[in-house]
Amino acid sequence: MADCDICKIMENKKEFKIIYEDDVCIALLHESPSVPGHTLLFPKEHFPILEEIPDKITEHLFVVANKISMLLFELLKATGTNIIINNGTDAGQELPHFLINIIPRKEKDNLNFEWAPKKKGEDELKTTLSMIKTFSDGIFKGEEYKRVKIKAQDSKEDEKEEDYLIKQLKRIP
Ligand SMILES: [Zn+2]
Repeated sequence: MADCDICKIMENKKEFKIIYEDDVCIALLHESPSVPGHTLLFPKEHFPILEEIPDKITEHLFVVANKISMLLFELLKATGTNIIINNGTDAGQELPHFLINIIPRKEKDNLNFEWAPKKKGEDELKTTLSMIKTFSDGIFKGEEYKRVKIKAQDSKEDEKEEDYLIKQLKRIP
């Protein structure tokens, strides 16, 4: 997609610190990482959100994400990894192209992705479960279903200057 900042990386690969590439995906070091080793992995083909990616590519992406996670454990002596997807703008997605963050973690590294647990009533949990059950059988059997529309970033806003792409990279996740 011409006006997608992630797609543009494919045209300027030398400017980025690519750690892995194959026919389907690219992994590179984040330009402004949360911690050293923070890696971004994305499909070469333009997909705005996870729901739009064919299962075969999703499988491949997660196999590669796992291998990168293993690398971070081995080489950086990480003792944990966070594998994070901001799926849709309301979930914090800032670029119009699906990507996976792989973040090496160590004890007391001062990163915090925790949230305060909320107490929900039994009735509310049962209602949620029953709504999910109504739809889930068909979805897991691979039947066609009406996709829930998740907002993806409107990339048409992005007609900015050349280094816009790098600025954007610094802001994610
Ligand atoms: Zn793209």
